[in-house]
Parts: sequence; structure tokens; C-alpha cells
Amino acid sequence: MQKKWIPLLCALMLLGAGTLAAHALDVPHKLKVTVTFNAMREFVTAVGGDKVEITTIVPDGMEPHGFEPKARDIAALSSAHILVYSGLGMEAWVDDVTKAANNPDLIVVDASQGADILYLEDAHGAEHVGEADHQGEEQAKEDNHSEEANHPGQDGPAETDSHNHGGIDPHLWLSLKGAAVQAGNIRDALVSADPANKDSYEQNYAAFAAQLDDLFTEYEAKFQTTTRKSFVTGHAAFGYLCRDFGLHQNSVEDVFAEGQPTAQQLAKLVAYSRDNNVTTIFSESMVSPQVSQTLANEIGAKVETIYTIASNENDLSYLERMRFNLETIYASLTD
Ligand SMILES: [Zn+2]
Repeated sequence: MQKKWIPLLCALMLLGAGTLAAHALDVPHKLKVTVTFNAMREFVTAVGGDKVEITTIVPDGMEPHGFEPKARDIAALSSAHILVYSGLGMEAWVDDVTKAANNPDLIVVDASQGADILYLEDAHGAEHVGEADHQGEEQAKEDNHSEEANHPGQDGPAETDSHNHGGIDPHLWLSLKGAAVQAGNIRDALVSADPANKDSYEQNYAAFAAQLDDLFTEYEAKFQTTTRKSFVTGHAAFGYLCRDFGLHQNSVEDVFAEGQPTAQQLAKLVAYSRDNNVTTIFSESMVSPQVSQTLANEIGAKVETIYTIASNENDLSYLERMRFNLETIYASLTD
């Protein structure tokens, strides 16, 4: 009785092996890449081209700062080859989601790895800055990833809200230099997952990096000519961009898009705007557009859109939105 089954089993095993081999040789085979939010989608598109199929976790029109992942996000990850997240505490949920997906083959990419981190020095950031501030990147990353963990050895003040931002500005993707770092980490992951298309990924990256460089050089020269350097926006998303070009930002909401300003804070923003000859208040679609308008009315300024590239915005590419941002900020400093 049992002997009869052996040839059948062997046949099934052979069939199984044959199917696997055929699958590996599939010509139109695409890498399945899951990304956390829109800017990561832009970078994976730029480097991966038609060799990748991308799923985005944070839906269009949603602000990723307060995002909570759903069961369907975990389901998408269970069949993905690669997960790309921006890092620096932007997606505090990424470790939990990765564990829940239970996909041992998943390549997880912290796109900010190796970046020159911007530590927060503003009032909100200061309350989060513990030892991470003095112990450099490694410690900061560790703090960053152990979102819910206690830090008994830390002598900084206790956390005052549910987030642990690690005293780090997460908005690296809004810097052209930061974008090059993130796209470079994505290139490395795509090459290691799909070495057959190494040349394609490397060429796409080189072309994208050259475009980032050109845009940087163009605006570096322009911002050097402006005497005014300060602008006001919806939330403090442009710290890295400011560092790149020697500019200063002030904002209606803090770095983490938490909390509407009090009357007193609004009065301070009005005073800041007047002191710095601010003639434009930038407004983001998902963060306090009404407050930006109120502030603008108060000082007789106009309101202009600015893109955070956290979500799809008018189907514009990363480079289109960055050029728009830079030109609009430049125009506001020179009008
Ligand atoms: Zn933000």
C-alpha cells in the first residue's frame, strides 16, 4: 500500500522543483517593493524603473506622522521582496509591522542609513533629546527603534507624549542631498535582491543623482544671492532643506505636525514674520491650512502651497515638487 505512494510523491516533488525553476526564470518577473510613503515610492520608481512593482502603505491624502498601519499593510508585506522605509523615527510602527508580516525573506531597507542626521534644537525637540544627542548616530538609531522601550539610564526629561522621536528631525527626503542618500540605499537593496538587473539600477540611480545634483547647484547659487533667509510654513518639515541652503524655517506646527498653536505662539509667529519681512506663508494640504491663512491675514502676507512629498500631490514627481518648493521659497525671499 505504502509503496504505491512513493513514485507519486517523487513525481510531485519533481513537479514542484520544475515549477520553482520555471518561476525563477520568468522574464517579466518584477521585484515586489513595499514602501511606507510617497517619497519612498518616488525614489524606488526612479531607481527601479519598470523592474519593480510598488505598493505604498500610507494611503494618498493621509499625513504619515500620525499613521497607524492596518492588517492589509501586513498582508502586503508577507509577499513582498523588499520593504523601504524612510527611517529616523518617521515610521515608528515599521518594526512591529515587519515582525507581524512574518516574511523571513523580506529585505528591510532603512533608507536614511548613513545620512548626516539633523538633531532637533527647538523647544519641542529639546524635550526629547536625551543621551542620543551626545552619543551619535548609533545610539540615536537604537533609541529610535525601541519606540516603546524604557530608557532607565537616560537622564533626559521623561517623554511627555506617546511618541519617541529621539530628538531627530525625520524629514531627510525633503533635502536633495538626503534624497541621494536614500536613493543610494534603495539602489543597493535592489541590486542585492535582483543582481541580474544591477546595471539598470546603477544607471537609473546615476541619472537620478545627477538630476538631484543639478537642481541643488542651481538653487545653491540662487539662495546665496538673497539677503532674507527665513520662511514660515505649516509644520517644520524643511530642516534639512534649510541646512542645505543656509535658510531658516519657522512653522505653525512643530516638526511632528502635532498640535495647533496657542494664541501666544501665534502672536510669536506674527512677530517673527514681521521681524523677518516674511511676505508668504506656506501651507501644506494636510497640516493646518486654516492657521496658515489666519497668520497670513494677520501680517498681510499671501499663502502659497508647499509640498511635503509625504503623500501623492497632484501626481507630480519628486523632482517636480522639489523644484516647485525651491522656486517658491526663493521667490518668497526675493519679492
Ligand atoms: Zn513632517
